[in-house]
Amino acid sequence: MTEKDKRFPLLLSAVVGQGKRSDDRHQPAIKTEMPQTAMRNAVKHALPKSGGHPLSVRSGVQTARAIPGPNPSTPDHTSKPLVSANIRKAMVAKVAQQGVADNVVLGALEAIPRHLFIESGLSGQAYIDASLPIGHHQTISKPYIVARMIEIMRNGGELRSVLEIGTGCGYQAAVLSLVAKEVYSIERIKALHELAKNNLRPMRIPNIRLHYGDGMLGLPQVAPFDGIILAAAGLEVPQALLEQLTIGGRLIAPVGAGHQVLQLIERVAQLEWKSSILEQCHFVPLRQGVI
Ligand code: SAH
Repeated sequence: MTEKDKRFPLLLSAVVGQGKRSDDRHQPAIKTEMPQTAMRNAVKHALPKSGGHPLSVRSGVQTARAIPGPNPSTPDHTSKPLVSANIRKAMVAKVAQQGVADNVVLGALEAIPRHLFIESGLSGQAYIDASLPIGHHQTISKPYIVARMIEIMRNGGELRSVLEIGTGCGYQAAVLSLVAKEVYSIERIKALHELAKNNLRPMRIPNIRLHYGDGMLGLPQVAPFDGIILAAAGLEVPQALLEQLTIGGRLIAPVGAGHQVLQLIERVAQLEWKSSILEQCHFVPLRQGVI
């Protein structure tokens, strides 16, 4: 759906079901594989038949600076086969197969060690394309949806300042740090805000600013943003966030309760936003206030 001249907030009922749906490649895969089966598949696909990379992902995307690995005093996870660079490449190949085509985003996905954002008991599942629990009834988003949302927000352009609502464990913020100059991320659960700080600290990423607070209010003190990503689903996109977009900026958000869809909102003029519905998705709920 493309609706020009809409004033916001848009109610979900005003946008659901009227949109242009993307083709099946963009539908999140609904699979009921056992994690063990999925991991066996991932390991199988991770072994390059002729030593070649399955993708022509640009290496060191906007990042001559590499993401430093974990602190030398911590165990070297990267030497374990289940969290090796090859298995990360296999995960990126799967994401690309589902339709993500932006090499900058795919490169960023490949560069960030997702297993370092997941508790060690689950790290063997880090490179399955699935969401996983991070505590406090929240999840780390699946790699496909992280990549897809960033691809839509970026739209092939330069991003100066971006805002993420829902830091969780900090994974998406780390991926964003490789595609945008400045990343701001807000989390409403204090314990998760602290978890993200701890996860990100050893990586020494200079362009991420984490905030503890209610992301529905945005960050007016540092707005406007070229891009805003919501990692939690509300019934509508908060008005405050729409007003914190630059003109030409893009916001991507899951909206809905039971049935959720990705909504893209572009600010086309001072008082004009354009909305489109892209594909189905499944996120934890956006909630008001802090805990
Ligand atoms: N970005 C994460 C996904 C986190 S899950 C990743 O890297 O995978 C979504 C997060 O949104 C949860 O941690 C939840 O607590 C948070 N959240 C929900 N409502 C929020 C709000 N109003 N402000 C800030 N964070 C919120």
